Amino acid sequence: MKCSLMKTCCGLLPFGLVVLMAGDGIADVKVTPEFSRDGSFFRFDNVPLPAIDDAGSKGKWKVIAGQGDANSGSIECLFDGRVPTVADQPAQNFFLAAGTKNGLIAVDLGKSADVSEVVTYSWHTDSRAPQVFSVYAATGEEPGFAVPMSVEEIGQTAGWKKIASVDTRQVHRNGGQQAVRIFEPDATLGKFRHLLFEMNATEPGNHFSHTFFSEIDVLAEDSKTVQRISVPEVREIRFSTADHNFRFTIDVTQALELETWAVEELKPLIQDWYPRIVAMLPSDGFEAIRDVRFLFLRDEEMKGIPAYASGPTISLNAEWFRGQLNSEARGAVVHEMVHVVQGYSGRNRRVRGDVAPPGWIVEGIPDYIRWFLFEPEMGGAKLSRQRLKDAQHDASYRTSANFIDWVIRTHSSDERLLERLNAAAREGRYSGETWKELTGKSEQELADAWRTN
Ligand SMILES: [Zn+2]
Repeated sequence: MKCSLMKTCCGLLPFGLVVLMAGDGIADVKVTPEFSRDGSFFRFDNVPLPAIDDAGSKGKWKVIAGQGDANSGSIECLFDGRVPTVADQPAQNFFLAAGTKNGLIAVDLGKSADVSEVVTYSWHTDSRAPQVFSVYAATGEEPGFAVPMSVEEIGQTAGWKKIASVDTRQVHRNGGQQAVRIFEPDATLGKFRHLLFEMNATEPGNHFSHTFFSEIDVLAEDSKTVQRISVPEVREIRFSTADHNFRFTIDVTQALELETWAVEELKPLIQDWYPRIVAMLPSDGFEAIRDVRFLFLRDEEMKGIPAYASGPTISLNAEWFRGQLNSEARGAVVHEMVHVVQGYSGRNRRVRGDVAPPGWIVEGIPDYIRWFLFEPEMGGAKLSRQRLKDAQHDASYRTSANFIDWVIRTHSSDERLLERLNAAAREGRYSGETWKELTGKSEQELADAWRTN
């Protein structure tokens, strides 16, 4: 059997209240897709927050046709009552393998239940947010009842009744959070034990267009008493420099245990050092970012990385910071603030086609400012005579910081050496020749002299 397309979309109701008819499913079934604009925790105007202990959470879920993608979370993501915390979080969603045309997911509720509604939630930055699926149901007691092994077999397999076809692309084609509520206004959907979801790609032909499903709730008799996920209150610390030139936000929503440290230690550090770094690294026509956001995320989301900067946002690994409050935490923030000020993105380069600076310059400058200007007493980038002998000046991070420090110290007549080195990198005109322009000596001559000093 070929699935018929959705029949109508009334299109007259305001956004978020679009009611789609349920295709060739049950006559009075309503399908209401919604889109959440504000981003997190799955808040919708007319669809409740995902449930934790709904009938679906106690069911047996199985992929029976197609398979989950290698980067997808396990099928448990669909019923574990947990939702992703950021968009595009593969391990916290379930999605079919790249290149799969479609797939079937079966749920056995364990016993027949009066199913009142089915609610599906998805989240992605792009075309994997919309949902294109059909849902079928059966009691399991129908004569000749069987579970189909492919989408093509559904029509020939006894016992299954289509409940609804869903296609949210008509409402919102782009990224964001989407939820679809399938219900019947004055009745339940019926008594069923088995549900079957036929999942389809949102962009046929695009291998990477299977929806990131975050949760699927199946609500039965207990629909009024289920427990729902709770939305944490956003906890932000906002402040600026005394001259109001720069503004900062530290988001500790996901790291409440670090709130006191953030207020007492991190805030004054940022207020002091961000403007200093800006003053250290000026260049013609360059304006440093004035609003910087520090966002604490859980280790799982940071994939083990302690910290990274992206545009005006510095993401910080809450677990890592908790263990480093008295050692590396402050220096790591200084390092990331240098990245924000470096602004080595295309928009700061003068001419198209300029090359990006090499990684050892990108990381060497932040580590130089951190280890030699911010916390020299730590000696974090010191090299013993023995280690220096075999060191590579372009080995990045601390080793390159040590090299940059040595060049600056041995050319102390040029107070602007760091500034000029950074400007060359920022403007896309850095090359090996830059060292000759800065010091009169080639990069190799400097590196050799550094190693044997
Ligand atoms: Zn870095």
